[in-house]
Amino acid sequence: MEFPILDTQVYNHRLVYLDNAATTQKPQQVIDTLCQYYCTLNSNIHRGAHHLAAEATERYEEVRRKVQGFINARSSNEIVFTRGTTESINLVASSFGRRFLHAGDEVIVSGMEHHSDIVPWQLACELAGASLRVIPFSDEGVLDLEAYKALFNEHTRIVACNHVSNTLGTVNPVRELTEIAHSHNVPILIDGAQAVAHMAVDVQQIGCDFYCFSGHKMYAPMGVGVMYGREEILSQLPPYQGGGEMIKDVTFERTTYNELPFRFEAGTPSVGDVLGLGAAIDWMLAQGLDSISVHEDDLLRYATEQLQQVPGIRFFGTAPHKAGVISFLVGHSHPYDVGTLLDKLGIAVRTGHHCTQPIMDRYGIPGTVRASFAAYTTRDDIDALVAALLRIAPMLE
Ligand code: PMP
Repeated sequence: MEFPILDTQVYNHRLVYLDNAATTQKPQQVIDTLCQYYCTLNSNIHRGAHHLAAEATERYEEVRRKVQGFINARSSNEIVFTRGTTESINLVASSFGRRFLHAGDEVIVSGMEHHSDIVPWQLACELAGASLRVIPFSDEGVLDLEAYKALFNEHTRIVACNHVSNTLGTVNPVRELTEIAHSHNVPILIDGAQAVAHMAVDVQQIGCDFYCFSGHKMYAPMGVGVMYGREEILSQLPPYQGGGEMIKDVTFERTTYNELPFRFEAGTPSVGDVLGLGAAIDWMLAQGLDSISVHEDDLLRYATEQLQQVPGIRFFGTAPHKAGVISFLVGHSHPYDVGTLLDKLGIAVRTGHHCTQPIMDRYGIPGTVRASFAAYTTRDDIDALVAALLRIAPMLE
């Protein structure tokens, strides 16, 4: 089995794993890469004189080049390894904030951001005396581009928006959002946490200044993520964390910093996980990014149709351009009750606010049930979800 965990039985049922927006499962080749790393290669990179250190460094830097190709960055200097999207955004908000945010400035975020693309900006704004402006969205979950354009003024310093909403599934028009920001000479950060596993991403085609994502949502291990930053802008930012690896020379009087991208990678990175990310990219490329998108689009259409059979179902996020996420409620039942009953039938979904409380406030609901898809999701999984919902629906009234 390519994904060993999918053989798991839950309460004597086949596991139907529909919580892929939270994290994806790992193919055998990613698991093997981790195992091989710790069995044959483990050592600290960049500084050792010995064979293992040199080999691990080479493999680590090879993955940096692989990520560069995967998102079509201009240079591997633009690829910074982090722990995940959250750390990537904190890095940018903190460094950019220290360099460019001042009292009275404004940061634009969308109304459908994950908390990790809101709170780091709030922290940076608080330090600088700046404030957040929010792009509203329609009932369907589509950003209001006219309202977005109207938010810009001479105080706007940066825009932050997700590529795909983890709650609504909306695929945002990131290229257009970027063009609009750039027409005001304002840089833009795209939170790609929910995009990279589901579609081909080309940062040069989007034109964005920063693009952040997590390995664990794209078949790689937990503990590794990426912050892509355009070299011109990255080279203007102060370091985020201090420590080993990010310096050139240290004296007690003065420290000079290393060049890109090492300036932003203080301390020992998660080398094995980075190699695992490389294996995950290989796995995705072998499937074909376009076939993954086509497959998941088909599942989304199928699931949206099939779920209509469930009495009292209400969908949240019905934008015309969506990725494989379906958020819903059944009648007036609490999402947690639905999730718990589905779990008893072996079906793993997410319930709650999905770290997007402002979206829940926008609809006046406590949370949703969320089913989200990956390359290994099948129509059988969707059928199992629908059958289970039909079975539990009477218990929810
Ligand atoms: N942004 C979005 C859109 C997400 O879906 C998530 C994860 N749910 C994050 C950011 C945070 O990712 P991580 O927890 O891997 O740092």
